[in-house]
Amino acid sequence: MTEPVYRGRFAPSPTGPLHFGSLVTALASYLEARHHGGQWLVRIEDLDPLRDSRRAATLICDSLRAHGLMSDEPIRFQSQRHHTYETAIAHLFEARRAYRCHCSRKQLEENGGHHPQLCRERSLPADGRPHAIRFALQEQTARWHDDLLGAQVQRLRAELDDPVIRRKEGFYAYQLAVVVDDIDQRITHVVRGSDLLPVTAHQQQICLALGHTPPNWLHIPVIRNRQGQKLSKQTHAPALDDARPERNLWQALAALNQSPPASLQTASAARILAWAGDHWRRNRVHPEPGTHQLR
Ligand code: GLU
Repeated sequence: MTEPVYRGRFAPSPTGPLHFGSLVTALASYLEARHHGGQWLVRIEDLDPLRDSRRAATLICDSLRAHGLMSDEPIRFQSQRHHTYETAIAHLFEARRAYRCHCSRKQLEENGGHHPQLCRERSLPADGRPHAIRFALQEQTARWHDDLLGAQVQRLRAELDDPVIRRKEGFYAYQLAVVVDDIDQRITHVVRGSDLLPVTAHQQQICLALGHTPPNWLHIPVIRNRQGQKLSKQTHAPALDDARPERNLWQALAALNQSPPASLQTASAARILAWAGDHWRRNRVHPEPGTHQLR
C-alpha cells in the first residue's frame, strides 16, 4: 500500500473536557483530512502530570466519539512515549542543539532573557543539580507559508527564545513532544488553533534538527467568549454537551463560516459530517482571530 499524501491530527492536552473552541479546531482538521482523502489521527498530549488528568482525557475521547470524530488509528497518549522523547533529546545533544539550563525564571527575567549562568555557551554536563533542557535555536528570520493565513515571517533569537524541551521537574515539554510525534506519526499537515502560531517556527527548527522536513501548517482563528477571551479551561469555557452533537457540529460549521443550511440543524451528526465533508472550503474560514462569538 502506498502512503497517503495527507495525514492530519488533532492533539489536545487533557486539561479539561472538550469545549466549543476545541471542537471547531478538531472539526477543521478532520474536514481538511477528509477533503484531501487523507487520514486523521487523535493524539492526547498528556505530558504534564500536574495539569493533565486521565479523566479529562477520557472525557475528550468520549466527546469526539459522540460527535462522530473517530481517529483512523488507535489514539496515541504521549504519557506512554517518554523513551522516544529521551532518544530525541540525546540526538539533539549529539548535534549540539540542546543544553542544560540551571537558570531560574526570575534570573532570566532579570537579565532580559539572557542566561546569567551562560548555560548555552558552557554546555555543562549533568552534575546532579536540577536543570531544564533547552533547544538551541539558530538566529533566524523564519519565512513560511500558512495554508489559511498566507506568508508568515517570524524572528527567532538564539538564547533569548530557546524553548525548554525538558522541564526542571523532569517532564518532557510540549515543544519537543509535539514535533517528535508529528514526525513519528508521519503527519503531513497540521491544522490547529492560531494561539500556536508564535511557536511554529521554533517547532520547524526542532523538526529540521531531528533530520526531518516540517509538515504543512494551517492555523484556525481561536474562538472567543463574549469578553473576547480565548475559550479555554482558564476562561471557564463550558464543556460540550455530548447529548447534542448535531447542534454543536452545526454551530462549529457556522463558526468556520461554511454556511451550513438551516435544514441540516435537525439532521444526525453523521449526516452533518457527510455534508461538511462534501462542502468543506477552507478558504471560507475567516482568518482574523476574535471574529467568532459563541452562540
Ligand atoms: N496539545 C496542544 C494544545 O492542546 C496542541 C498541539 C498542536 O496542535 O500542535 O494546545
